[in-house]
Amino acid sequence: MSLRRPSLLVLLLLSMMLAACARAPVGRVPVEDRAEIAARLKADIVALADDEMLGRKPGTPGEDKTLAYLERRMLEVGLVSGTNDPGSYWRMPVGLVATRALPGTVTLTQGKRSVIVPESDAAVFTQRRRELALSGPGTGVPVVFVGYGDGLVLGEALAGAVVVMLADPGRDEARRAALFAQRATAVLTVVPDADALAPLRIGERREKLQLASEEQDTLSAFVTEAVVADLIGEIRWKRLKSEAEAADFAPLEIHLAVAIEAAAERREFTSYNLVGMIPGKVPGSGAVLLLAHWDHLGECAPPEAPDTICNGAADNASGLAAMLELAQRLNSAGPHGRDIYVLATTSEEGGLLGARAFAKAPPVPLASIVAAFNFDMVAVAPRGSPVGFIGRGRTAALDSVILDHLANNGRGLGDQSLADSFVQRQDGWALLQQGVPSVLLSSTYGVRGLLDPFLATRYHRPSDSADAVELGGAIDDVLLHDALIRQIADPARYLPPAAAAP
Ligand SMILES: [Zn+2]
Repeated sequence: MSLRRPSLLVLLLLSMMLAACARAPVGRVPVEDRAEIAARLKADIVALADDEMLGRKPGTPGEDKTLAYLERRMLEVGLVSGTNDPGSYWRMPVGLVATRALPGTVTLTQGKRSVIVPESDAAVFTQRRRELALSGPGTGVPVVFVGYGDGLVLGEALAGAVVVMLADPGRDEARRAALFAQRATAVLTVVPDADALAPLRIGERREKLQLASEEQDTLSAFVTEAVVADLIGEIRWKRLKSEAEAADFAPLEIHLAVAIEAAAERREFTSYNLVGMIPGKVPGSGAVLLLAHWDHLGECAPPEAPDTICNGAADNASGLAAMLELAQRLNSAGPHGRDIYVLATTSEEGGLLGARAFAKAPPVPLASIVAAFNFDMVAVAPRGSPVGFIGRGRTAALDSVILDHLANNGRGLGDQSLADSFVQRQDGWALLQQGVPSVLLSSTYGVRGLLDPFLATRYHRPSDSADAVELGGAIDDVLLHDALIRQIADPARYLPPAAAAP
């Protein structure tokens, strides 16, 4: 069942009337209010995207400056500590490990013949400072060939073995994860040719961040098929490959000795999430969470480039600015029934790590969070653009309140498939995975034609600077959330679904 959408004019008039009734002293958002919001958003964006913040990279002096600025602003907008830790007012520590793979070697031995695989035909990666795996005859460590499988049929029997697998693009990462979960010592993937190694090298030589609490000890090596075929003989290799293609193929031990030597640069450090709150007046009624990531990429261009710092003005100084503006508005309109938590996360760019850390050790039970609103890259689309609804279709009660607000405010709904394509690429995903109703509502994700030029020219580049942000859509986003969160924070006006009830 659906209603025909009323015209924009009717909606505008209706929303003016409704706004006039609901907020009599303020009336409809006046023009100067938009101008004032714009000035405040811009001031935060300019400060957070200044070169002085060094691109807000976790674990650098840029983090210290960013946190100091945000802590001052959280105090200014009237927040109180949300850490639930008397020893730490705003900061919740997040242990991180940064690693960068260094070149290593693979040595294959068959009978009396030993080959140190040339660098052109091999790649080796570990997260450890130094790692050595020896296997094959005489070492007590078996070498098991699993073909195109993931060794699950062997289960625990695989523990300690060095596993050789054939590449099957698209499935390889999951297969290696399964093999490491079965405690394989190392996984050697045989790739078709040297071209297949290039993208792996580029990916692995880049610095990677992980939560210290989730760190994996994995040793992965890659060699080209030509090297293996040459060593064990073309005919035998072809036979092994065709056996691996058979439906009833079972992993088998092969008489090949594999020695892998690998190393990595490694840095352990503590970064921080910041958590503030606006206390509610109805105890036990649950909480609303606002979140935005504070981190960005630091120096991201080659040293010879005229500008090397990725300032991350849209991504995500704009989300922080919108969240602070909302915190101020919600605080001055409060108290609300429910507690409103305000979270600035670290290391979103490293893989939603700060949000994952928050979800693992939340200062408030996750089940009591009735809704989470993420703010990420909100300063891209102009005023009046349709709203991208990321996270739609997961919490019916929340969806319907949001859709009502969009309709009541004459905000069109954007391209849903575009919004859906971002659901796993934003901090809210870490919360959704733990069952917390989480959405990201922004005009940035409503229309491909508005987003694509940003992605093509400024996203994750030094050109994402404060002078290039578009505030029209960001102000729309702020006003939408202002009204929406007041309702969600009111236990009399929003009943969470039973599963999320405190
Ligand atoms: Zn980003």
